[in-house]
Amino acid sequence: MRRTEHINIPVFVPHLGCPHNCVFCNQHEITECEEFDINSIDDTVGSFLTTEHPDTSGIQIAFFGGSFTGIDRTLMIRILEKAYRYISDGKVSSIRVSTRPDYIDEEVLSVLKRFRVRTIELGIQSMSDKVLLASGRGHTALQTENAASLIKSQGFEFVGQMMIGLPCSAPDDEMYTAAKICEMGADAARVYPTVVFSNTALHRLAQTGVYTPLTTEEAAKRSAKVLRIFYKNNVDVIRIGLCETETLRNDTGVTGAYHPALGELCINEYYRVIIEESLKRINISDDSDITVYCSNGSLSKVIGQKKRNRKWIEDNYPVRSLQFKESEEVKDKDIKISVKENANAPTVT
Ligand code: SF4
Repeated sequence: MRRTEHINIPVFVPHLGCPHNCVFCNQHEITECEEFDINSIDDTVGSFLTTEHPDTSGIQIAFFGGSFTGIDRTLMIRILEKAYRYISDGKVSSIRVSTRPDYIDEEVLSVLKRFRVRTIELGIQSMSDKVLLASGRGHTALQTENAASLIKSQGFEFVGQMMIGLPCSAPDDEMYTAAKICEMGADAARVYPTVVFSNTALHRLAQTGVYTPLTTEEAAKRSAKVLRIFYKNNVDVIRIGLCETETLRNDTGVTGAYHPALGELCINEYYRVIIEESLKRINISDDSDITVYCSNGSLSKVIGQKKRNRKWIEDNYPVRSLQFKESEEVKDKDIKISVKENANAPTVT
């Protein structure tokens, strides 16, 4: 993996008065956020730093929750100045921001660089213009390509955020988006299956039957397909699904891909699919003993939540025995299957 281990100190910077109109965004709830208080940076960072961190090389102050480079320029620079003081004092190593592709140009990148911003997360959502249009994103795939190219050429770490199940988006669009994020040189990715909040255009589209929200199962299946692309290209997926927030907890009308363990379910499904593909290549009889080997640390993900992958194998392959084991010989995100049949030597695939 290209990403180095790090710790984020998340600072929420609401992008007040966003001029865009993404169908999945609950603007009302966003603009209800309290006015951003620049002193909250000191409160958040200060309380984090009360814990001793002998190695500060991986600590970033991370500005999330808005389009950072779309913030009023004077305020943006004041925020950066405040964060930069912690870098000068040797308490953190760098800054991370998230923003929109159409809010990136050479000039703003030079400002970010001056204040030691190291990582830029881009809200890409889709690389299909029809999906971007149907989702009211207000930017094109070409703008994303240009932004990513500028970010990479200026030496920033680049994280691509994408969504699953947006209006007009098919699994092929999502796989294409993941492949493009890899091709654009992403160092990491975040995958967000679409959640439908109340008081959004998407909620109204769902109520009139124009949009069908994802089920948890669909979200897991479609996300598993993009995970495979990211893993194959050694792009680390640092988040799957929204974090549970107050807004989500309080929104009784929320539908779509919302499940507290969604990320886990998507990874389980990724493993289920590669197990299924491996088993199809092997002759398996009722008196087979199957062992599924996986990399160190991935056992619970391979077996699955509530043993879902174990049950899937047992339901589809009524074998004599089934075991799951970690093995140093198996690469990360891979599996190997050993099948022993009566009087036969083991077969490994
Ligand atoms: S860019 Fe879209 S998702 Fe982000 S705040 Fe504006 S409307 Fe909401």
